[in-house]
Amino acid sequence: MNPTRMNGPNTGNEDNVTFKCHVCGHDVAKSELVSEVFNLGGRRVLVERIPALVCKHCGEVTFSRETTEHVRRLVHGEGQPIKTVSMDVFAMT
Ligand SMILES: [Zn+2]
Repeated sequence: MNPTRMNGPNTGNEDNVTFKCHVCGHDVAKSELVSEVFNLGGRRVLVERIPALVCKHCGEVTFSRETTEHVRRLVHGEGQPIKTVSMDVFAMT
């Protein structure tokens, strides 16, 4: 018999992973799906549900190298937009 290997004891719902915030230096983050606007040489695109690490201290959002590369491929032609929205733009002067 080969019993299915179980994951270790569940220590809670929080995804604490190796992380070092480049803004505040704290090392605790949680995994979240975020939406981000990317500027592609004048054209702005919104990407939703990006897996990110969010610093629990200051809220800084960090993407892994793989995620960044995935987003780059997505917005540069491999992906199809799921919808188009118009955005209100505000500026601080
Ligand atoms: Zn931080």
